[in-house]
Amino acid sequence: MASEAAIPGELTALHGVGPALAEKLGRLGVTRPVDLLFLLPQRYEDRTRLTPIGAVTPGSRVVIEGEVALSEVVYRRRRSLLCRISDGTGMLTLRFFYFSKAQQANLVRGTRLLCYGEARTGPGGLEMVHPEYQLLGPDEHVRLEQALTPVYPATGGLQQFRLRSLAAQALERCLPLLPDWLAGLLPADSPLPGLHEALRLMHRPPPGTDLARLAAGRHPAQRRLALEEMLAHHLSLRRLRERSRDEVALPLPRRSDLRERFLGGLGFGLTGGQRGALADIDADLAEAHPMMRLVQGDVGCGKTVVAAAAALRAVENGHQVAVMAPTELLTEQHRRSFTRWLEPLGISVVWLSGSLGRRERQRAHEAIGSGSGQVVIGTHALFQEGVSYRSLALMIVDEQQRFGVYQRLALMQKGAAGSARPHQLVMTATPIPRTLAMTLYADLDSSVIRELPPGRQPVQTIALPDRRRDEVVARVREAASAGHRAYWVCPLIEDSEELDYQAAESTHAMLVEALPGLAVGLVHGRMKPDDKDAVMRAFAAGELQVLVATTVIEVGVDVPEATLMIIENAERMGLAQLHQLRGRVGRGATTSHCVLLYQAPLPEMARQRLEVMRETNDGFVVAQKDLELRGPGEVLGTRQTGLMQLRVADLLRDADLAPLVQRLGRDLLDHSPGLVDPLIRRWVGDAAHYGNV
Ligand code: ADP
Ligand code: MG
Repeated sequence: MASEAAIPGELTALHGVGPALAEKLGRLGVTRPVDLLFLLPQRYEDRTRLTPIGAVTPGSRVVIEGEVALSEVVYRRRRSLLCRISDGTGMLTLRFFYFSKAQQANLVRGTRLLCYGEARTGPGGLEMVHPEYQLLGPDEHVRLEQALTPVYPATGGLQQFRLRSLAAQALERCLPLLPDWLAGLLPADSPLPGLHEALRLMHRPPPGTDLARLAAGRHPAQRRLALEEMLAHHLSLRRLRERSRDEVALPLPRRSDLRERFLGGLGFGLTGGQRGALADIDADLAEAHPMMRLVQGDVGCGKTVVAAAAALRAVENGHQVAVMAPTELLTEQHRRSFTRWLEPLGISVVWLSGSLGRRERQRAHEAIGSGSGQVVIGTHALFQEGVSYRSLALMIVDEQQRFGVYQRLALMQKGAAGSARPHQLVMTATPIPRTLAMTLYADLDSSVIRELPPGRQPVQTIALPDRRRDEVVARVREAASAGHRAYWVCPLIEDSEELDYQAAESTHAMLVEALPGLAVGLVHGRMKPDDKDAVMRAFAAGELQVLVATTVIEVGVDVPEATLMIIENAERMGLAQLHQLRGRVGRGATTSHCVLLYQAPLPEMARQRLEVMRETNDGFVVAQKDLELRGPGEVLGTRQTGLMQLRVADLLRDADLAPLVQRLGRDLLDHSPGLVDPLIRRWVGDAAHYGNV
């Protein structure tokens, strides 16, 4: 039987790898030659064919060949070098924002070029921004690739050609010795290939491989690897769960009437779901082992109150609570809620923000260190170097889907006080199907809040083509004059913060002009946290009636007076994101509206998504539909569920593998427990050690 022990253990055993390269590889999680096999391409490029320029469509990545017809440096907005090239079938512009003198001198009229890049529609027709290119001699023959070109996840200073050559060495030297641990466990008639075949295909897809299927992540080779990867994570989380049962935490029983006084001052009663979740939490907290609990509940169900009520248990036992949220914006909002709720009870709330000055930060650190800060709120900065808690008993993680599972575990390690570990309360608005939750939150117990607070009216959702924007502007005007507030969310432009920002700016300018007399604010990801918070505060206080935003407001923001949500280019967004955005309204007693603006013609998949949004407000239904609609070939923007960093598996797309993962997990633990650690090591690598203290 093949054994990993026979494979060289040192990266430097590979040709061309010295200490410097080994260190860079380490940053990708590659510490042994065999790890290279599991560093999988993110995508593939087809450089096996030449496309006539006349046949190039915007959005496609193609190889073209042509002759420079015109080359000039222009200064519109930004200095750039433009080269018009032609091959007799059409023209295309190459656009360079960064270029050297030598490059400019090379790219003159009459030069023949071979280019590879993504075509898009620019101001002067088709263009490619910063294509890869190669100069061709007048009679030189064009040489194309023989196989699909893998593109590996890159890290600073590691070039693709180097990763490709390392992968080739690993395929040759390590693959034949690599054991396939699932070979005996999968049913004989399984459609999934063996491990060797799967890995070879991933690194070296032969010409003719179904690229669309590969891009959609539905190739059997990917499914085989996704299965093993999910299994490794599942086992690693089960291990962690088991270990936590042996670990010590500070028991936090009820000590006073603090909780009752808090709830009495709220002005509303808890929903059944909120009470249920709190009862689960209380039972866990009373134990001397760390709580590991996930509270799932749709946007707006009121998870923050539950968090605050849980926090009181730690406070009344004389210990501290850390409340962690993924964005500064959210921590600012939590600071407001927690301060308003808890300070009247004599509890001190400390905010650790990136925007604090040196002195303020110093003071916050002191309060955390001395224990005078009882509830501490912040981003992951809460667990950075230099922050030490006097006695942290509970850690609350909001919007867990934005943090990685292992990141959360690592932070918990840092929060440990002596031998005691903090209890963990994790909250998420991303509803995930039960089987998936059991597989991938295997380290957590879960409570679900099913209902929204009473009196909420479902958000009325409509979809309108972009050309009816004027009517939408009129609606915003009406809502604002009736004393309501509106969000206007701008198009999401993939992978380009710069363009996101431009789009938001121009929408802002348009609305300022169209809505005289109304205060229109703008918030986007590139603003300083301070400025962002100032704008959000002004919107929350009603000084601004309209807020133009990029998707930075997607999670958690709570302004109950906002009743109108406009989402531009809704056709480009995934269901989960649309649902999160819509969840920003419908938080008060007045009926709220959500307008999904789209660019016609609407692709079929997008049409179905908007349909789902119009039909239901229920996050669990939306999540289920999301799964059903994510057919092959469907690209849903760049953001995945984000539960953990995965190499091949996509938790939603591969959700159907969850039951098999659980069965295999049981089989391995029962019959081959010795394989569990190597399997975890193979896929989860060092991340797993976060939990090993
Ligand atoms: P999410 O679960 O999305 O984090 P929040 O905690 O932000 O939701 O709560 C949404 C809004 O509902 C807040 O304004 C909160 O004060 C309010 N709220 C929470 N629980 C209740 C309740 N039981 N009754 C009425 N309003 C509530
Ligand atoms: Mg929330």
